[in-house]
Amino acid sequence: MKKFYIYTLGCKVNNCDSNKIANVLASFGFIISSSEEADIIIINSCAVTAESVRKTRQNINKFKKVNKNCFLILTGCAIIFKQFLDNKNIDLICDKKNLINKIRQKFEIFAQNKEINFINSNDRTRAFIKIEDGCENFCSYCIIPFVRGKIKSKNLEEIDIECNKLFDFGFKEFVLTGINLGKYGQDLNLDLIDAIKIARKYCKRIRLSSLEPDILNKKFIDNLCLFDEICPSFHLSLQSGSDRILKLMNRKYNVNFYLELISYIKNKFENATFSTDIIIGYPGETDEDFENTLKIIKKVGFIKVNIFPFSPRPLTKSYSLNQINLKLKKYRVKKAIEVSELISKKVISCFIGKSFEVLFESKEKNNIFSGYSRNYIKIKYKSEENLCGKIKKVIFLPEFT
Ligand code: SF4
Repeated sequence: MKKFYIYTLGCKVNNCDSNKIANVLASFGFIISSSEEADIIIINSCAVTAESVRKTRQNINKFKKVNKNCFLILTGCAIIFKQFLDNKNIDLICDKKNLINKIRQKFEIFAQNKEINFINSNDRTRAFIKIEDGCENFCSYCIIPFVRGKIKSKNLEEIDIECNKLFDFGFKEFVLTGINLGKYGQDLNLDLIDAIKIARKYCKRIRLSSLEPDILNKKFIDNLCLFDEICPSFHLSLQSGSDRILKLMNRKYNVNFYLELISYIKNKFENATFSTDIIIGYPGETDEDFENTLKIIKKVGFIKVNIFPFSPRPLTKSYSLNQINLKLKKYRVKKAIEVSELISKKVISCFIGKSFEVLFESKEKNNIFSGYSRNYIKIKYKSEENLCGKIKKVIFLPEFT
């Protein structure tokens, strides 16, 4: 039997794609193994930052060095770059649509596949369900619309079948994911609420992976809060706290709109928490723009901020713009990380002493178990009972922050 290993870079959607590839390969009798023992190594790449493309290149060479007989396949967003075409360590470059067929041809797998088993993350606690792919927003820094194309949504029947199977396999939490999740259904005359209605038939904890602020409005939030299953942790990409920079980025909202959204959600969802993505050092970012970004980080009180130093991506509008001074960008990144970590600690400490329903995922030393509350606070709890995979109401204790 052939063995395979998948290395995934990038976003939750890429992780979902990798799970799906693994499930299909397993259903054809392939076995998951380590990278050293694998007959096939698949690198599911990311092109969002220059760093992710560098890591892709580094891992191609690393895997082939330790396992020179493997059949190494490059798939994912970075396949558009010419630099990989003449890399001798790659045996096949292929998009995800044709990947399985190519593998079947190469390894002469002609049998029909068996029932798909869900190889998913976190020991059947949290399942990621990709319901949408593609984006048509064309933010001026982002390569995604060029590599993933137009919005493509899963139909409700497919979502129903997937949710039903994940429920049968015992998953306790579903995370609905997509590249531009809020646009789910626009190609099918549906919307995200339709998908949530399906998922809630099978699961009591539903998270939405990441939402673009421009699609949110009061009506959508009013509808969302009718569902008890929706976990009150929201990842709303801000990208900059300066209206001027948002406009240059071709983002379709301004800071006031964003802040009003946050306060509306806070009023509707008890204990709601927020996370975001921010790009530091966009071309033309002034000290004032940067200070405005720090102000918003403090004002919202995010529990997690993913800080990305701007990196010019080919094909995008901002590719050829003059970059800001590298030393200044590094300084701002460091400062933004410091501020957001401080704020996060402050916000999380406000929840100490409160009681939360936690889905425990892993065991640490001395019978300490850790998991996440519905509002995505990491909570630890000491117990003689094995809590992995269980939901339990516990108090968030200060010694475990
Ligand atoms: S919304 Fe903007 S940043 Fe997000 S994937 Fe689409 S183009 Fe990229």
